[in-house]
Amino acid sequence: MSADRPGVAGVVVVGGGQAGFSVVSTLRAGGYDGPVTVFADEPHLPYQRPPLSKKAHTEPDELRVSLVPESFYGERDIELRLGDDVVALDTADRTVRSRAGLSVPYAHLVLATGARNRPLPVPGADLAGVHAVRSLDDALAVGRALTTAQDVVVIGGGFIGLELAQVARARGARVTVVELADRLLSRAVSPQLAEHLRRRHEESGVHVHTGTAVQAIEGTDRVRQVVTSAGTLPADLVVYGIGAVPRDELARDAGLAVDDGVLVDEQLRSVSDPRVSAVGDCARHPHPHAPGLVRLESVQNATDQGALVGRRLAGQPPAPYANLPWFWSDQGAVKLQIAGLRAPSDDVRLVAGDTPGRLAAYAFRGGRLAAVETLDWPAEHLAARRLLERETPVLADELTDTTLGGLARARRAAEVRA
Ligand SMILES: Cc1cc2nc3c(=O)[nH]c(=O)nc-3n(C[C@H](O)[C@H](O)[C@H](O)COP(=O)(O)OP(=O)(O)OC[C@H]3O[C@@H](n4cnc5c(N)ncnc54)[C@H](O)[C@@H]3O)c2cc1C
Repeated sequence: MSADRPGVAGVVVVGGGQAGFSVVSTLRAGGYDGPVTVFADEPHLPYQRPPLSKKAHTEPDELRVSLVPESFYGERDIELRLGDDVVALDTADRTVRSRAGLSVPYAHLVLATGARNRPLPVPGADLAGVHAVRSLDDALAVGRALTTAQDVVVIGGGFIGLELAQVARARGARVTVVELADRLLSRAVSPQLAEHLRRRHEESGVHVHTGTAVQAIEGTDRVRQVVTSAGTLPADLVVYGIGAVPRDELARDAGLAVDDGVLVDEQLRSVSDPRVSAVGDCARHPHPHAPGLVRLESVQNATDQGALVGRRLAGQPPAPYANLPWFWSDQGAVKLQIAGLRAPSDDVRLVAGDTPGRLAAYAFRGGRLAAVETLDWPAEHLAARRLLERETPVLADELTDTTLGGLARARRAAEVRA
């Protein structure tokens, strides 16, 4: 039996999130008819996480985040084991063992275990009123806390922190963002665009402290204030988002190669075992758009990687993973979109759109367009995705008097004429 054509032992997926769902839906759509089992430690049907930090909810019904209704799994004979996590993996016997005591053999195993929030390493982080947001239950807890909170301190000026800052502002709270780095979004967004975004947050009434360390969270029964290197801030709610770490411990304990994520090849197979794949936030992989290995935390990456593995396991010819990375973040009324992967050494050029508020940052590497960040400019983002996906590069001097949308139109017109 080939590693890519599982027989009776079937496909087992560990993790019922965005990537795990993508694997099993693509697997069945591709005609695979062997046993399929998904272990999901959360009690909820597989759901999407982006709304969790973009809206404030108090009831699960208001959320509607499930990817598909429960009937989807039954109709496709996908065994969904909710609330049961895999606790051990035996790659010699090819079985997984679950917390509920189930032992399931596999022909192919897919790890889609996602990531967990990096814990906040300061005294008082365990006080009532201090929250991180990763799960549906976390988001509901923050939604409930926001019904009374007046002073909200957001620790971490990354995507999730900034989204939550706007959610809290919309609920009428006084909001302060405290960020250790000297600017917002220092890992993922160019300094030029991040500076504009900071202004937009400040215009909406959010206070932003960069270059500021949180030293302690204080209170008796619950949080009362946050002590920072720049002074003390009153707080009746603290939310933090200071990055995520991959959930790769199962793989590590089973002896698979792990280094800040499960190490996989360009077809997303474990480099240690061809009968194991890893997809989504927990996988570290080669990518033609980046030097070295990358671990990407995005819906696009989770969905596309899951689909690639699903197709491969359904018997389609294996293909290297090369999809263009793209990402979005809604920070209140501001939509940030990214296509491609920017490197810190790229040359960045800011371009204003014809409507106030529209902005693009083009990142060039060796004179070629490598990544594009936009604010409130979806058409330019889409043009960037189309152009970056194509093999014909976009050169810096093609973009002196035109936008990417304009360049795409000019190229199409030239193709029609030719
Ligand atoms: C608040 C928030 C907002 C976000 N916003 C955006 C956005 O705007 N745009 C964007 O592109 N991306 C966004 N993301 C990132 C995106 O949601 C993730 O990249 C994506 O969900 C990754 O999919 P995944 O399947 O790898 O992991 P997940 O969706 O996290 O799913 C993994 C699942 O596996 C479960 N699991 C782990 N270990 C086990 C085990 N041993 N047994 C059983 N189950 C296990 C976990 O509990 C989890 O339910 C956001 C993430 C968060 C947390």
